[in-house]
Amino acid sequence: MPFMKYLCTPILFCTLLSLAAQDLSIPLYTQAIPCSNKLSQEVWVVGNTGRRIAKVHEPSMDVYLAPRHIATGTSVVICPGGGYTVLAWDWEGTRMAEWFNKMGVTAFVLKYRLPHWESASCRDKVALMDAQRAMRIVRKRAEEFEINPIRVGVMGFSAGGHLASTLSTHFDHGDPAADSLVDRYSCRPDFSILMYPVISMDTTFGHMGSQRNLIGRNPSEEERHYFSNEKQVSAETPPTLLIHASDDLSVKVENSIVYYQALRKHNVPTAMHIYESGGHGFSFAKDLGAVADWPGACKSWMHERGLLGAKMKALIIEGQNNHKNWQETTPILAKQLTQTGLFEVDIVRTPSDGKSMENFRPDFDRYEVVVSNYNGDSWPEETKRHFEKYVSSGGGFISIHAADNSFPTWEAYNEMIGIGGWYGRTEKDGPYIYMNDLGEIIRDVSPGKGGHHGKQHEFMVEIRDKVHPITKGIPDKWLHAKDELYDQLRGPANNLHILATAFSDESTGGTGRHEPMLMTINFGAGRVFHTTLGHLNESMRCLGFKITFQRAAEWAAKGYVNQPLPKVVPSPDEVRFGME
Ligand code: ZN
Repeated sequence: MPFMKYLCTPILFCTLLSLAAQDLSIPLYTQAIPCSNKLSQEVWVVGNTGRRIAKVHEPSMDVYLAPRHIATGTSVVICPGGGYTVLAWDWEGTRMAEWFNKMGVTAFVLKYRLPHWESASCRDKVALMDAQRAMRIVRKRAEEFEINPIRVGVMGFSAGGHLASTLSTHFDHGDPAADSLVDRYSCRPDFSILMYPVISMDTTFGHMGSQRNLIGRNPSEEERHYFSNEKQVSAETPPTLLIHASDDLSVKVENSIVYYQALRKHNVPTAMHIYESGGHGFSFAKDLGAVADWPGACKSWMHERGLLGAKMKALIIEGQNNHKNWQETTPILAKQLTQTGLFEVDIVRTPSDGKSMENFRPDFDRYEVVVSNYNGDSWPEETKRHFEKYVSSGGGFISIHAADNSFPTWEAYNEMIGIGGWYGRTEKDGPYIYMNDLGEIIRDVSPGKGGHHGKQHEFMVEIRDKVHPITKGIPDKWLHAKDELYDQLRGPANNLHILATAFSDESTGGTGRHEPMLMTINFGAGRVFHTTLGHLNESMRCLGFKITFQRAAEWAAKGYVNQPLPKVVPSPDEVRFGME
């Protein structure tokens, strides 16, 4: 490939060459850049492959928003290649972004710092630092970009593929205690697309140029091991698509193969397409024969993984419940979700009472929101850990009625639901939470059992947060259908926000307090909605239950609510039911 170098000033380049349709460019760091360098960025054009960038000084992302009418909510951070010396900015960056946009995928082209130009103390840190930061920013600003924070992938080419696979194996779920909000977000990609990637620092098939630029001529065994990503794969490495050509003389196909084998070993979903010819750095591989099929294969893979469906996926968990109508209430919940037009619903049933739970391992990560209509035996430890990770890294969770009775000793679960009742809950589990007549939240640490209700009756639900996306626009009070009015729930109640209460009247066997009915809880980056309503089938058919549940599902999945309020809304004067 002729490597012609046209140096031009940034201004010239902007006026003459900016054909790209990016919506905005955002710097990765708004304050001091860690490991900051004194370089002055260079941009030039190489034939029809477009712009090259070297000496990156200020790392940033160019944002390519998917057209609204076809937007899928999926997004991808693209790392162009260039041997950790340059960035093939258009060839493996902006042109890919435009292609993703046509599929309804929002793309962020990452201008990461290039190890080759960096000081010895920073060169192995900057690229990964920038990629991690980019992922966190995308998730933090998900609402603004109208993307789904649990469908953020990474794509990388060649050395950019090394960066993408490094990010896929060296990530964290965010630090919930971090001072800076952005650091509280996970930097784990939800999927990886690796194009003729450098994977290994192995001396027999690794890419020596990338290695030299990243970790120098004489790296220690530790450094080599750390950046040999096939050795860093775990069960948490995201699902991965690998594309490579057998005749790649620059980055040997063994790089993809060893990564694929490592993914298989850890049961990470993966696909690999190896073409006989195509060489290296082929981008869309136009006119290169069979390898030009890869975009189709990539699209099919994304489709199969549910990344291109406009609908989000919800999972309802059922199978045990002290409420014997659970086989009737799950279909009501499922129908209310599908009626939004936003969700496809799967239902998973646990083994029945007392049976072995060993094989109960739902793939939570495939869902935007998980709804529990479950109150029963404990799950396997591995499933519990998986569920905690799913929620804390941004997954949505909804607890329905008696689901807040379950798992009294599972600490993280009780953090998620905020408060719960029955099954041995007492002052050891946290305070009682309720409101007094002034609308003040009371955290009552007095001893006593958690969880109680009076006799079933119709009661008034009072909205306490009128601007939250779930409750906004709903009348301040609605008469709720016959239900159990839960009272005396208690729990850790951290990050708990009360959306609605109901007055628990002593005349019906209640507490004389305003008890929380609808709540939200932040658990890590995850959003939890807790409704105590829904004892009877008719309690769930109540319009107030239905609307708040439907909106909560969208909110838990995405952080915002776009579904309009129906024409008929709940009323304080009469019980209204939703159509089914
Ligand atoms: Zn009940």
